[in-house]
Amino acid sequence: MEISNNKVVQIHYTGKLTDGTVFDSSEGREALEFIFGSGMIIPGLEEGLAGMKATEKKTVEIGFEKAYGPVQEQAKQEVPKAQMPEGIELQVGMQLAAQGPQGQPMPVTVAEIKDETVVMDFNHPLAGKDLVFEVEVVEVREATKEELEHGHTHPEGESCGSEEASEDKKEE
Ligand code: ZN
Repeated sequence: MEISNNKVVQIHYTGKLTDGTVFDSSEGREALEFIFGSGMIIPGLEEGLAGMKATEKKTVEIGFEKAYGPVQEQAKQEVPKAQMPEGIELQVGMQLAAQGPQGQPMPVTVAEIKDETVVMDFNHPLAGKDLVFEVEVVEVREATKEELEHGHTHPEGESCGSEEASEDKKEE
């Protein structure tokens, strides 16, 4: 079965920057499972995976436009030092967890430290970066009707127990 829209796909992957630095990998973890075509993974990776079959391997090179997008200057915000969490010695490049609009954790990076304020960068840490993914397709199967309604996968065929379909609920 080939990877196409509304298939449930499992992959093992290693994501690298173009200089070879590994930023994420499924090695030692369970394979990443997602519904293909639903925007759960970055667009460039979906394009690279389309048409692949189980056990196939591939190296997918992805320009930043089809990964995490360009760095946006307006995503940098100056925050008064008094509003920063206490007990943290701030350093440029340090990552903190802020809370996103839906309460989800969002990584932010300390971009600059001024006298009274700190410039926080809300860009994705991989914004503006070209990426290289080494992927291996583990499994391709049809999504069940329930999975498509929920917008996420049900590993091992077990339902998540949720009656309410929630588009933005993410599964670990
Ligand atoms: Zn569900």
